[in-house]
Amino acid sequence: MWRERLWSALVELIFPSRCVFCRRWGTPFCRRCQAEATPVGEAVCVRCGQAMTERCLCPDCRRTPAGPLRGMRGVVFYGRPVSFAIHALKYRGMTELARPLAGYLVAYLQTHPLPFDGLVPVPLHPEREATRGFNQSALLAREVGRALRLPVHEGVIVRRRATPPQVHLTRQQRLDNVKDAFAATAPGVLAGGRFLLVDDVCTTGATLQAAAQALHEAGAGEIWALAVARAHPKPEPEPWQVGLGPAEVFIAWAGGWTVDDGR
Ligand SMILES: [Zn+2]
Ligand SMILES: [Zn+2]
Repeated sequence: MWRERLWSALVELIFPSRCVFCRRWGTPFCRRCQAEATPVGEAVCVRCGQAMTERCLCPDCRRTPAGPLRGMRGVVFYGRPVSFAIHALKYRGMTELARPLAGYLVAYLQTHPLPFDGLVPVPLHPEREATRGFNQSALLAREVGRALRLPVHEGVIVRRRATPPQVHLTRQQRLDNVKDAFAATAPGVLAGGRFLLVDDVCTTGATLQAAAQALHEAGAGEIWALAVARAHPKPEPEPWQVGLGPAEVFIAWAGGWTVDDGR
């Protein structure tokens, strides 16, 4: 252990790191940039964790029955500089950013204790992990596990389908996109334990829901999910974007009826 620390101190001395965002010397993601993130706060949907005007159960969650996932949360809103750091971790291989990014998760869990005894990172598809060389969620989960002295269960669920990017999809399309994307490697292996799914970013939570389903098949009793950043989902299309004519749009705009396309 001391050898490891001495070595990293030496490396730090010879190759001091700079903040990925502001380029200040010292650490890979400086405290000042870390503090710029906006916390999602307490006004969220208690189940899916999306930001609301007050703490409640959002209309989407009211419509859908509760799955095995008790609740999900994002610590801060997805935006610079955090998004920049997450991007650098994933696409520029700056794995040294896992620790400061996991710091958001640890700080959140210290002030908002959730009931779990082990951590499970959201897996990447094996091909993507091989190309990237690591799974960023696993790096985050390991850092949290180390800080909170909790076991990290890797490999209990796998991603069996490489899912296309979700950025431009609606809520329902996202749910369809990730349905059955995950599977338990050994059904029942977790035997009723309580687990926290860890991911870097969540948008609608469709991925976390699908991963929770697989974790449930692996035997997990209670499941919560936590992501570093919560991204705003793409706004639902306006009436004139779903193929309505000007007259219908005018009626909708005038409040005559509301357009409900089932989402
Ligand atoms: Zn900085
Ligand atoms: Zn909700």
